Amino acid sequence: MMQAASFRKKLFYWFAQTSRPMPWHGQGAYAVWLSEIILQQTRFEQGLPYYLRFIENFPTVNDLANAPSEKVMQLWQGLGYYSRARNLHKSAQTIRDQFGGEFPNTYEDILSLTGIGPYSAAAISSFAFGLPHAVVDGNVYRVLSRIFGIEAAIDSTQGKKEFQRLADELLDQKRPGDFNQAIMNFGATHCTPQQPKCADCPFQKECQAFLTNRIQDLPFKEKKIKLKNRYFHFFLMESKDSILIQQRTGKDIWEGLFTLPLWEGNADEGISKHEWSEFCAKQGWKDAKYSLELVAEEKQLLSHQKLKMRFYKVKVPALFVEEYGVAKERLEEYGYPKAIAAFLKIKKAQ
Ligand code: SF4
Repeated sequence: MMQAASFRKKLFYWFAQTSRPMPWHGQGAYAVWLSEIILQQTRFEQGLPYYLRFIENFPTVNDLANAPSEKVMQLWQGLGYYSRARNLHKSAQTIRDQFGGEFPNTYEDILSLTGIGPYSAAAISSFAFGLPHAVVDGNVYRVLSRIFGIEAAIDSTQGKKEFQRLADELLDQKRPGDFNQAIMNFGATHCTPQQPKCADCPFQKECQAFLTNRIQDLPFKEKKIKLKNRYFHFFLMESKDSILIQQRTGKDIWEGLFTLPLWEGNADEGISKHEWSEFCAKQGWKDAKYSLELVAEEKQLLSHQKLKMRFYKVKVPALFVEEYGVAKERLEEYGYPKAIAAFLKIKKAQ
């Protein structure tokens, strides 16, 4: 089995050839934290403009803590996994109220913040404060399982422990931040899920997956994700100056964001007259008649859900919209899921 010292040497050599400075490097723990949360489940190219926008709007953690939640959600719009934005805001308020506005500088205190798990706490404490905590994320699982030929399932408790133990053993105690960054970058750009660059890899001679032709089998997962189908029906109800939008509440996707009025069906078919009447009654709408015109259909794939979305134009009296809707000129003040923002823009362009 490859020695820890040799692993670090090769990894650091690769890192020195490929690393590029990031805008949050040397900018303190707040900037590191912001970048970490934004880049979770998000590609660097997609996340970078969001990071820059957040830092520009909220230069300090107190600025973020004091911002209205609508503003935070609006800046997050399009990035998905909206609970991250809510947690970010909540944690900023905790830092303001319980840590005197200073970003906490121990692993345990960082871990106590909302939305921070062991992975993020290890990343932030090592990047910002040089604390020796090994990061184990999807990239690290892949790199370690392939190079060391580990077949333990990464979604099992036993497997997680085994990978964490190995990562702790390999971690460079003097440069934990660089080590974590290097192994994550290596997984993200070199030892990628599909088509890793084995021909040009510093670990080729030791990599168990390469030597035994198991690259596509590792890392191993016990459970396959089952996608849930959901059928959303959105209703465009507008007058010349107003439009109906509603905020999502409850623990579900898009919590806190705004959408057109939404009804969820059980099957891949349009809404019936009876269902429409029930929906209107629930909403407390008296005047909305059943005159729906299907104007668009969209699909969206989330990590655990497959969404089929139908958009209907509903004929309603202007007075009705004035009563329940918001002024169109204020639409930009709210945060929306991507599909809704796109739909509203299409509408504006017409
Ligand atoms: S040889 Fe291939 S699979 Fe092994 S570490 Fe290198 S890129 Fe990854």
